Amino acid sequence: MVKLYNSLTKNVEDFKSLHPLSVGMYACGPTVYQFAHIGNFRAYATADLLVRVLQYNDYDVNFVMNITDVGHLVSDADTGEDKLEKSAKKEGKTAWEVAEFYTDAFLKDYQALNLTPPATLCKATDHIKEQIDLIQRIEENGFTYTTPDGIYFDTSLLKDYGKLSSFDKTDAGFTRVDANDQKKNPRDFALWKFSPKSTPDSKRDMEWNSPWGKGFPGWHIECSAMSMKYLGETFDIHTGGVDHKEIHHPNEIAQAESVTHKPLAKYWLHSSFMLVAGQKMSKSLENTYTLYDLEKEGFSALDLRYLYFNAHYRQEMNFTFEALEAGANALKKLRQEIVKWDEAPDEEVEGERSRPEGTVREYEKRFLEAVNDDLNMSKALGVMWELVKSDNPSSAKSTALFKMDRILGLDLKAQSIEMRKEQGVIPGHIQALVEERQQMRKEKRFNAADHIRAQIKRLGYDIEDTVKGVKVRKI
Ligand SMILES: [Zn+2]
Repeated sequence: MVKLYNSLTKNVEDFKSLHPLSVGMYACGPTVYQFAHIGNFRAYATADLLVRVLQYNDYDVNFVMNITDVGHLVSDADTGEDKLEKSAKKEGKTAWEVAEFYTDAFLKDYQALNLTPPATLCKATDHIKEQIDLIQRIEENGFTYTTPDGIYFDTSLLKDYGKLSSFDKTDAGFTRVDANDQKKNPRDFALWKFSPKSTPDSKRDMEWNSPWGKGFPGWHIECSAMSMKYLGETFDIHTGGVDHKEIHHPNEIAQAESVTHKPLAKYWLHSSFMLVAGQKMSKSLENTYTLYDLEKEGFSALDLRYLYFNAHYRQEMNFTFEALEAGANALKKLRQEIVKWDEAPDEEVEGERSRPEGTVREYEKRFLEAVNDDLNMSKALGVMWELVKSDNPSSAKSTALFKMDRILGLDLKAQSIEMRKEQGVIPGHIQALVEERQQMRKEKRFNAADHIRAQIKRLGYDIEDTVKGVKVRKI
């Protein structure tokens, strides 16, 4: 049984899918106006982990993620410029070019981190019609009003508005920055924004005609429109960073539920922030690291992936290079263990056979209990290391470990083969043949030497005679 903390009920609950063994899951994706940093990726790593855990528990997961390429203003509260248009001006590109560039960059890092590709990756700009349709339905239900700069959602009319978040509806703090006087209530938000009266300078790259006039969708409407399009009016799980819990997600819920009168999602999961050396990541502190920044320091995406597991997703995580280094070393050690197991197959180690098979199963069971307990990865990693260090037969350990890696996603099999290649570690029986061939060559028995070479090749290894000696490698 998978247990998850549901932000909606503020409780850890048994996960019960709406349909047997099938899960609809939506994750709020990136706003593609700059490189996503390692704190942003923590939220996607959490979504990926959840998908893997559900799949491990035999659920078929329909995983949908969006790409925000329009409408996200500098402030989440609908003030300031559109982030894409602002970036475009700064970079001397069009907003379309900016979106394409940073979407590609995002997907490259996403793949490097071995994150599960969504079944559907949907862009806001590809779903303008769906967003307009939903705004019309909200309008028909009487929840909208018009101001000189757009169509707004009247949050005072929705009884349980903000049920997900902890704020007070009339929170004055909300209006502090760039208050929009034309809103009826501080929490009201834009569904459609009008394009500014065109001057050559203010002309937007991205704008569309709508029943209300030329403009662009508000940020929140895309997620309600696209999640319902691909997953239905009520789906199982909605995930996102904890920064979405107070504004974006309550607004997604308001837009959907004012029209359907059904819950948008049954479970809401929020991934906590990542701090850097105890401070919030910010441009001014120059501590917003991207994956590229870590790679420049010699770390890999999988090192970062391993590091993410060290903190529970609902806890703030403190990033330091020391912690990353420790994670990278642990991962390296793990791969070395696997290489060693390959080097010493069971039959060569005395006494191992006497271990009961059941022991490995115990570790697998405890690992599953940990991941199913609201994704308790530090506990799961602990169990994994206990397994690795146990004196079970190496073949049983590697089978169990590779099974766990379906959740860990550390690509352990391929990475350890790679390490073995790099280290040139060659199994003992191959090494013995190589030495025998060398002896034959010394004795000028070249036919016999060639015969051994062919034998080595049949066993999956190639040898090359170089000035520095014989090089052996796996084919
Ligand atoms: Zn969203």
